Amino acid sequence: MDEDGQPGQRPAVDGARENCGLMGAFGVPDAASVVFRGLFALQHRGQEGAGIVASDGQRVQSIKGMGLLADVFARRPAGGLPGTLAIGHVRYSTTGSTRIQNVQPLVVECVDGIWAVAHNGNLVNAADLRRAYQQAGAIFQTSTDSEVLVHLLADPMFRNRPRRVERALGELRGAFAFLLLTRDSVMAARDPYGFRPLSIGRLGDGIVFASESCAIEQVGAEPVRDVLPGELVVAEAKGIRSSSFCEPVTGALGQCIFEQVYFARPDSRLFGESVHAVRSALGERLAAESPADADVVIPIPDSGNCAALGFARASGIPLDYGFIRNHYVGRTFIMPETDQREGSVDLKLALVPSAVRGRRVIVVDDSIVRGTTVRRRVGALRRAGATEVHLRIACPPIRHPCHFGIDFPSRTELVAARLGIEEIADFVGADSLAYLSHEGLLGCVTQPGDYCSGCMTGRYPIDVAGERSKQDLEHGSPVTDA
Ligand code: SF4
Repeated sequence: MDEDGQPGQRPAVDGARENCGLMGAFGVPDAASVVFRGLFALQHRGQEGAGIVASDGQRVQSIKGMGLLADVFARRPAGGLPGTLAIGHVRYSTTGSTRIQNVQPLVVECVDGIWAVAHNGNLVNAADLRRAYQQAGAIFQTSTDSEVLVHLLADPMFRNRPRRVERALGELRGAFAFLLLTRDSVMAARDPYGFRPLSIGRLGDGIVFASESCAIEQVGAEPVRDVLPGELVVAEAKGIRSSSFCEPVTGALGQCIFEQVYFARPDSRLFGESVHAVRSALGERLAAESPADADVVIPIPDSGNCAALGFARASGIPLDYGFIRNHYVGRTFIMPETDQREGSVDLKLALVPSAVRGRRVIVVDDSIVRGTTVRRRVGALRRAGATEVHLRIACPPIRHPCHFGIDFPSRTELVAARLGIEEIADFVGADSLAYLSHEGLLGCVTQPGDYCSGCMTGRYPIDVAGERSKQDLEHGSPVTDA
């Protein structure tokens, strides 16, 4: 991606913001510490805030804070939260601004006990639900879309009826993976389209849930399966039960293809497939569709690594490291101002002049959002003596917004929404530019019909016309941030 970003995996600065990451454990000794370790593997999904809520069956306790997981838990280690059940969250805001009240899991006390809620995704009907509850006298503590589930759970209309959680979940539209915690249970749910990932693992006699399988492996658990679209899994003392909270989606699911292209860690299995294998295949396909005469293939680390490997393998052109990441530069994602972030991008990627000097270079990355960062990188390659720079992008142009949890900049800021491919090549200063085709992208996953690629095509699994936007939600918030 033409931005900066994440430790060990991907950059990002002038474009899309992160998803969130979820981790939960039930029936596991020192569950909060297990969740803490799992969240480490999910830090790439959000660096703005982190929290863990744990229960020992009697008391529910939490630690939350702004910033990276290690910083939040430096003074108050997760091991101080006793109990065998816990859920945790790492956050990057896609709705709701950057403030401590929005850090999850949200914890509330209803008439029948404590509920903690952790959410990944974006609810497209959150503003309508929020307004309806506010008009009925409800008070909201956060400006996140996630809080509407708390109000649904507390609503007597659902609270006093069987299948309360299923009924509450059934009111939501949009993208969600939820983890819920009560004093004596942990629950996991995914929206009917399966936009966001959520997996189940087995750890000893207990069970764990995580946004990506890399977190399940990280805690030494054995991956079991994904939470199914439209499924609620409840882990409690009497066992694990599964139920459906909606009619099955007729036709295609809406799994986010951008998770495969960019967001997830390459060592995860996502939606049933290896992210690394998918990304390598994207590179191979890209090489077949858009070859170039060149001396070397270099990735933009880390987001372009797997695709560059595939490109080099398929083209027979050697792979080399033309850029090296500095892992000790602070997290650019949490720098709120674009100028700050872009300054850090330059610090974060160092050029290796000897790898590119006098050579014709193919640069492979996963995507272009605004185009400003890649422009600086192409300029740096030329100054270092590259004789030609051919840019190859392992997904189609991103021209449309995402309504389901990925916070791309506005359409006017998306370079591919404004310019044609030749014009983008001119803008970034590349000798040639090619994107992977949409057919090529979908040809690299095993169930192409079950993926959303709305940010590339403008066609979304859910009709979002008429739904209030996340901006409406923010504007509807009674709280403004200093
Ligand atoms: S619109 Fe794009 S980023 Fe959003 S869910 Fe669909 S594929 Fe993912």
